[in-house]
Amino acid sequence: MKSYKKELYFNTKKRYDLVHITPEVNRALKESGIKEGLCLVNAMHITASVFINDNEPGLHKDYLEWLEKLAPYSRHGYKHNVGEDNGDAHLKRQIMGREVVIAITEGKLDLGPWEEVFYGEFDGQRRKRVMIKIIGE
Ligand code: ZN
Repeated sequence: MKSYKKELYFNTKKRYDLVHITPEVNRALKESGIKEGLCLVNAMHITASVFINDNEPGLHKDYLEWLEKLAPYSRHGYKHNVGEDNGDAHLKRQIMGREVVIAITEGKLDLGPWEEVFYGEFDGQRRKRVMIKIIGE
């Protein structure tokens, strides 16, 4: 069994952002040389997510508006916000998830129709990372 690991780095201009990362995951898969296996992609921070859905800008606005209703930004509205202000970002991350696992079949990410991989940033404007780990043959 082969194993391959790669890290991606992000430093978003905005506090909240959704970044399409399917091309980077495909690049990592090519570099790995693995044809059959599993690909894990996970955010390495508790205020960011990796998720799969449609690469459609209206949907991305809907996500951000929905998340803001569920966990609105508030400097003083969260018990977590003692010395920091990212209580909302922890909650947003929980809803959008930590990681995805994608099957690799015949050297390709075995994604469903319209499925694309995204990095969800909820407390950005600083350097953060995502890990890609691919195992298989
Ligand atoms: Zn925090």
